[in-house]
Amino acid sequence: MARQVLIAGNWKMNLNHLEAIALVQKIAFSLPEKYYAKVEVAVLPPFTDIRSIQTMTDGDKLLLKYGAQDISPHDSGAYTGDVSGLMLAKLGCSYVTVGHSERREYHAETDELVNKKVKAALKHGITPILCLGERIEVREAGNHVEHCTTQLVEGLKGLKAEQVAKVVIAYEPVWAIGTGRVATPQDAQEVCFALRKQLSEKYGDDVANTVRVLYGGSVKSGSIGELVAQDDIDGALVGGASLQADEFTKLCALAA
Ligand code: PEP
Repeated sequence: MARQVLIAGNWKMNLNHLEAIALVQKIAFSLPEKYYAKVEVAVLPPFTDIRSIQTMTDGDKLLLKYGAQDISPHDSGAYTGDVSGLMLAKLGCSYVTVGHSERREYHAETDELVNKKVKAALKHGITPILCLGERIEVREAGNHVEHCTTQLVEGLKGLKAEQVAKVVIAYEPVWAIGTGRVATPQDAQEVCFALRKQLSEKYGDDVANTVRVLYGGSVKSGSIGELVAQDDIDGALVGGASLQADEFTKLCALAA
């Protein structure tokens, strides 16, 4: 079954709302409308930029999608600093990353919390991009496949098959994020294949063939082609390279 390629730019904690507008303008200018039939492109800016991007994409009827980098498991209430799915949906967010390794590490996010956030996103019609991946010591011990499939199972716990079909998975080995050390296409494919196999065993072939599995970790225009050529890699979650308009649009064009 053909799955549409998705390239999602994770801006992390970079760019204020004016810089965000400038970058989105450049991306929109460089990627003609017909391009979006082949590849879906999304940007995931900091919360403070989302309203500006919404105004711009609505006003100019851009096909570019956008989303957030985190979501509260709650809808509203006394949760200082958090932002809910209710609020993100109102801002027109299509996607939200959940369980990024930087949130797992710096905010002590557990699989249990990640699972609640996946459910919160789905509840509000936002597609969660469930991030998972192994640290270097886990890979060196040869336990990366088991580690990642466990994170997958825990992250999706309690979901019905039709809900799982709406989730995007991002395999992001921690040792590849922001290091310039991209996984080989074969190493990335090994894990993405295992994740899809796990989905098939638990939720059936239809779901497994529908879910998009992305690779993330130091992806650049030079590496995207070989990655998306793999059977089980349906696009990329891109950090650093998504902040440079020329590099990001080149990368998107090469993913088509
Ligand atoms: C990320 O933060 O999800 C990521 C993949 O970052 P980078 O591309 O910079 O490694």
